Amino acid sequence: MSDLLYLDHNATTPIDPAVRDAMLPWLENEFGNPSSVYSLGRRAAVALAKAREQVASLVGAQPSEIIFNSCGTEATNTAILSALAIDPDKRHIITSTVEHSATIKLCEYLATRGYEITWLPVGKDGLLDPDRLEAAITSETAVISLLWANNETGVIFPVEEIAAIAARKKVPLHLDAVQAAGKVPINLSELGVQYVSLSAHKLYAPKGVGALYVNRRARYTPLLRGSQEESKRGGTQNVASIVAFGKAAELAQAHLLASAERIGSLRDRFEKTILTTIDGVRRNGTDEPRLPNTSNLTFAGIEAETALLLFDKEGLCCSAGSACSSGSINPSHVLTAMGVTREEARASLRFSLGRTTTNNGIDHALEIINRTVAKLRAEQPAGGSPVHIKS
Ligand code: PLP
Repeated sequence: MSDLLYLDHNATTPIDPAVRDAMLPWLENEFGNPSSVYSLGRRAAVALAKAREQVASLVGAQPSEIIFNSCGTEATNTAILSALAIDPDKRHIITSTVEHSATIKLCEYLATRGYEITWLPVGKDGLLDPDRLEAAITSETAVISLLWANNETGVIFPVEEIAAIAARKKVPLHLDAVQAAGKVPINLSELGVQYVSLSAHKLYAPKGVGALYVNRRARYTPLLRGSQEESKRGGTQNVASIVAFGKAAELAQAHLLASAERIGSLRDRFEKTILTTIDGVRRNGTDEPRLPNTSNLTFAGIEAETALLLFDKEGLCCSAGSACSSGSINPSHVLTAMGVTREEARASLRFSLGRTTTNNGIDHALEIINRTVAKLRAEQPAGGSPVHIKS
């Protein structure tokens, strides 16, 4: 990590050394199956119970409300499909245009199976209007599925208002808190939401392990049937990774406020410096409420994909507001849903800071960004787009 300027913590995070240490025994001598009755297995079951308490505590839930699984995507798929299975006559789903692909791809698939999907729009600031949510609910609505915090812009949805509306209208609510958990306080005991998705690899734990919170009063049907996780999610548990998830949740909870403050002030300095020293830059998404670590910026007149390659040569990692698929560059659906033009979306970069980010690292990143943006703009063909941003 030493030479890496890693500003992509929303994509994934490095494993915290304390998390790695906690998981190592479970990759070595402690290889028992938590369902086995002898002590080797029972120790694994005890380790799972501890991790369940740690993850539950991070989000203000009861341990019995946490179901471990393989990832945030599985959690989201399980939550939505569970709500649909419980009430098979209801065939309407409400979500938003800026969701993660875990939700979007499932809803697009469900649309081909005869479900009606309402894609709630967001404003230019990336925020959702709760009145629109309320107006979209019908007697046919089986589930509402929305982000807690957006992975591209960091914009936080008004989850308290959303939960109050869902409760009033008696519609099950799923919230994708994959990006929010560990970055902002979460207290599910007070929120009254039915399902919440979590993922360990955004929390300095390994990839391939996640959890679904299911409110103890909510109805639920499993996606994978089997005896594990009290028959709520079949499949022998990934003990080492779950132990890691638990440790990561404990650390995230212990350092949440201090970490948010430190990272938030680095992010603010980073963003302010760019906005005030480089022409033709605009922030995407509201300033607040927003995750403290995320900054999504459009740099007029650059191609973000090219910037990423130049950054990479200098060890700077961040993400583009576009994704390369089937040989063509698709502008981010999140940015275009916020009214950003396709051209501007292709000129957008997401920087997401984290535990590895230092003051010096930010200075170095600023220097690289400044130089690279100037170079890309200077290389533009004559008559190329001027440094201009639509407000
Ligand atoms: N939801 C959001 C908001 C995410 O950012 C991600 C991961 O990028 C996911 C869901 C999916 O999580 P996982 O990678 O564990 O499947």
